[in-house]
Amino acid sequence: MSERLELTGMVLSAVPMGEYDKRLVILTKERGKISGFAKGARRQNSPLLAAAKPFSFGVFECYEGRSSYNIYQAQISNYFERLSLDLEAAYCGMYFLEFADYYTRENNDEREMLKLLYAALRALENPRLDNLLVRYVFELKAMVINGEYPEVFCCASCGSKEDLAAYSHEKNGMLCADCAAAAPCEPVLQSTVFTMQYVVSAPVEKLFAFAVSDEVLREFIRIQERFRKTCVDRKFRTLETLQEILPAFAWKPGLWR
Ligand SMILES: [Zn+2]
Repeated sequence: MSERLELTGMVLSAVPMGEYDKRLVILTKERGKISGFAKGARRQNSPLLAAAKPFSFGVFECYEGRSSYNIYQAQISNYFERLSLDLEAAYCGMYFLEFADYYTRENNDEREMLKLLYAALRALENPRLDNLLVRYVFELKAMVINGEYPEVFCCASCGSKEDLAAYSHEKNGMLCADCAAAAPCEPVLQSTVFTMQYVVSAPVEKLFAFAVSDEVLREFIRIQERFRKTCVDRKFRTLETLQEILPAFAWKPGLWR
């Protein structure tokens, strides 16, 4: 029999299988993203009944099978129950899970992504934070962790660190005032530049601790929407649902201009 393992992680998705079982995808600290079979998880007396659901975070006890893991027990330390009380937060959270699923792999070091996911869900549970800002901060940071992000620290054209005043979608980066005068770009506020620099460089623990003006949020969203579409060619089912249900999340080019 294979070795018994304890893996710390979060359930990204849970799909019913047969009459009583579930297939789980879990983002773990130790093994990256894994796929696991939770036998009997839908039975009323199963120790996995409550654990085998999206957002459950804790320690999962399992055996490693040939192509997947067999999960037989879990100690959940956070179910993120408050998300289920708030439709907007719940749908945002589901999108975060799908986005994290897209960017992670098995046997890869995904600890930063797991930390980010945990911090972002905590931020959604915090009524003082704007979910729309949380969403774009999460999205950009997830891309940073994966190594794809816009140049926000110096001019994407000449390299100057001074006077960054515009954003170029063609160059995927900020432009200084001189270069901005000579290329197609959109002007941005200094605060938007600082906001994006902060998201790119701040540790995950300190990421969801700021607020911005509506104008800065709009500029940040415009840039991040175009940037995500440049790098990611797939459609996210949970994002489409989010946008259908909550029009504030349905960003369209020109909406705010
Ligand atoms: Zn320049």
